[in-house]
Amino acid sequence: MWSYSFEFPTLTILLIILGFYFSRPRLPIKRSTAFVHMIIIETLIIIFDILATAVDNNYASYSIALIKALNALYFIAFFDRAYIMYVFSISVLKDSPLSIVIIRMLIMLPMSAGILLSIISAFFGSADFPYVIFYIDSSGYHSGNLYNLLYVSGFFYALLALIAVFVFSKKTGRRREKYGILIYNLAILAALIIRLCLPKHLIMDTLILIAILIVFLAFGNPDFYLDLRGNSFNKPALSKYLEEYKGRLKLQPFGVAIRDYQAMRDLYESSQMEEGLVMIAKYMHRLFPKGLVFYCRKGRFIILDQPGKDYREEIKALAKLFEHPLRSNTAELYLSAGFVTFDRVIGNYSSETLLSTMLKALESVGATESEEVLNVNEEDIKRTDTEKSIRHCIEKALEGDGFELYLQPIINAKTGKVIGAEALSRIRDFNGDIIPPGLFIPVAEKSGRINKLGELVFDRTCRFIKENSLKKMGMEWINVNLSPLQFLCPDLGDKYSSIMKKYGIEPDTVHLEITEESMIDDLILQKQMMTMGEKGFLFVLDDYGTGYSNLSRLKKCPFINVKIDMSIVRDYCKEPDDILPNMIQTFKNMGFSITAEGIESEEMATTMKEIGCDLLQGYLYSKPLPINEFVDKYLI
Ligand code: C2E
Ligand code: MG
Ligand code: MG
Repeated sequence: MWSYSFEFPTLTILLIILGFYFSRPRLPIKRSTAFVHMIIIETLIIIFDILATAVDNNYASYSIALIKALNALYFIAFFDRAYIMYVFSISVLKDSPLSIVIIRMLIMLPMSAGILLSIISAFFGSADFPYVIFYIDSSGYHSGNLYNLLYVSGFFYALLALIAVFVFSKKTGRRREKYGILIYNLAILAALIIRLCLPKHLIMDTLILIAILIVFLAFGNPDFYLDLRGNSFNKPALSKYLEEYKGRLKLQPFGVAIRDYQAMRDLYESSQMEEGLVMIAKYMHRLFPKGLVFYCRKGRFIILDQPGKDYREEIKALAKLFEHPLRSNTAELYLSAGFVTFDRVIGNYSSETLLSTMLKALESVGATESEEVLNVNEEDIKRTDTEKSIRHCIEKALEGDGFELYLQPIINAKTGKVIGAEALSRIRDFNGDIIPPGLFIPVAEKSGRINKLGELVFDRTCRFIKENSLKKMGMEWINVNLSPLQFLCPDLGDKYSSIMKKYGIEPDTVHLEITEESMIDDLILQKQMMTMGEKGFLFVLDDYGTGYSNLSRLKKCPFINVKIDMSIVRDYCKEPDDILPNMIQTFKNMGFSITAEGIESEEMATTMKEIGCDLLQGYLYSKPLPINEFVDKYLI
């Protein structure tokens, strides 16, 4: 006799989860499908189990056909469950092994064999032919010789899932998902072991329910992907969706950004603002009945709708919506919005790249008053992709891999000999090609890695000075570039001092170049320069003529040298005027020496020398060189 007292509460809880699941909007991804499939199949298993057990216990009162059918259905569902629980497990992997047809067929083999055998059991199983899962005869239910295939397939799928998730752990999503799946599969293994040890007590389903609850609580709850009180999906949902449809995104994206979101939120307070956003989300559902609406925080909506749509009508409708205040019982808001359309996404871009391109575009329309619809094309996506790979190369460079220091000589205009050099950094991409600083410095600034990168350049320069005698190369100093952002770091001076101390170098051998287009607050810059000046650091104003430096700023900050930007040098050499010579004279009267950048010919050198430049730098003398080539060329 079987005891099924555990089955009823288990079934009740499952039905509650099922009801909850169907009451919430679900993101159409494989994981949701696998989860729904899993709960439905588990519910069916319990129902078939109860019914089959009931008829097996009183086999004499029921027809053999009914007993056979119920048992066969139970075993079919049992084999299917093992497989679908595996499918759910591997949904945490970024790339599913099931996308390869042969692998999928091989993995499905135990399930298919089990289902086939369950059907054969019902039709052909008997005491004379016991090579089946079960058979029914006049004395009721009997397990067949192949009954243990049930356990074989159960263990096979649970162990395969554990191996897949842990062997490919780098391709797994979040940690929570990985550990959720670990405990989930351990619960499945425990369920199988309990069934093996206590076959007469139907406890297995209770343990399977626990496994389902674990993943539901860890990451299967549809609420994790919802925002705006369930009226839209959230940013992680969009990221997950884009990840799953990588390279084959059919739905057409469209973006709506609330203008000046932060200011509006301050004005209306968060609860009223949320109310307004909920109203907008609801309106979008009416406007895009078949589309997916995602809310990506900060007033940014992204809609994925039918392929090939141009969204002209929808833009008109939305523009109309924002012409009037958004009114509800608790809110009245005047908002406006900007729109973004997207060219069809063709390439195989990562969800990270697509999402950040979309959000960047939304941010920019949200920040302008222009009524124009912004269109994002493949080039914009490629640019984000390049930026992403540059970020990786910067990280690699910071670990000392692919970073190189180059030096470009600076010539004393009077003697024509090398007197110093400028240190310029280079990093290499994954193919070993050089990424120019014009590309990676802005990315390092945006990603907050510029301080580390600056320290690395400074460290390598100091090391170079320690390992090579500057005097033997006829040099007095090396200039190092500083990003204006580095000035926001209050302990910049201390850090650089300690690097110098490490190599036993005097501060006057490394001059710090600051570009003049620096947008940083004058006061911060001045204060930092003063503090560092007290420690003995010397400063050079770089790229003069490209930014907004004025004389009073120059007077306030302790510079020793001004570098005239190559564009100004070039213009002057082409069409001389009085402005530059007068400017240079004024600088010299203020006590600064002058460097001319970008000298490419003897004529340019002569011209710049004539108007008072003390130092000359440019391809005429040398391009920037890797440090070993520089030493070979200039060591006397
Ligand atoms: P910059 O500091 O003005 O450096 C001079 C740039 O002009 C260098 O470009 C150099 O190769 C180039 N150059 C020198 N002479 C000539 C010439 O005769 N003709 C032409 N066409 N170009 C010449 P590079 O190395 O590509 O660096 C570009 C900018 O990147 C630098 O401009 C500097 O602002 C920044 N940078 C380079 N390394 C670093 C660094 O380590 N840290 C920071 N914060 N910025 C750096
Ligand atoms: Mg420079
Ligand atoms: Mg410069």
